[in-house]
Amino acid sequence: MFEGRKCIHHEIVPARQGWARRVERGDTLVITDLEGQQAVDFLCFDADDPADRYSATNTIKVQGNVHIGLGSVLYADSGKALMRVVEDTIGRHDTIYGCCSIANNRLRYGVETTQSCYTNFEGILAPFGLGREAIVANINWFMSVPILEDGSAGVAEAARQPGSRVGLLAETDVLVALSNCPQMHNPCNGYNPTPILVQLYRAGEGSDTSSV
Ligand SMILES: [Zn+2]
Repeated sequence: MFEGRKCIHHEIVPARQGWARRVERGDTLVITDLEGQQAVDFLCFDADDPADRYSATNTIKVQGNVHIGLGSVLYADSGKALMRVVEDTIGRHDTIYGCCSIANNRLRYGVETTQSCYTNFEGILAPFGLGREAIVANINWFMSVPILEDGSAGVAEAARQPGSRVGLLAETDVLVALSNCPQMHNPCNGYNPTPILVQLYRAGEGSDTSSV
């Protein structure tokens, strides 16, 4: 998959932490669940017009499916293609359940927490001039939310193997923001948040294939 591509960035995102970066058009972001069973909450924006952001509804409707996986395109509100899934060892990922927050931990579980994907997003988006209005329904990589016939849904207990990964090709210059989910009150992280690896690959700069 990455023959002819050079790894230009390699970084471990510790458990419970957020991460954001501008990704240039044509580069591929690879997210690896190093230890398994770790959900990664994800947003992306047009880097040159961050008000044009990932749209779950456009992405779901255009593809006619509430799950995303290999070949899925992540569309913005404007209809612009932001990123495309070019590698996927899992097969399907959640688009509807959004991120954990102090508010929904209180509402769902009756607990007061201090860490959440929402607070991570607030922290990592602020340096880019983005506030709470930028936190929309996000993608949950490596997370399964089955929907039953009666419409009921919930986070599934799903065994995700260590080394599971997704590769996302930037179709335009994008700002990506992710939260290595700290949730401890449902099975999305196996009740044990762990580090993930993020890498950026660029075409046409040598043939380093060593690090994936
Ligand atoms: Zn979370």
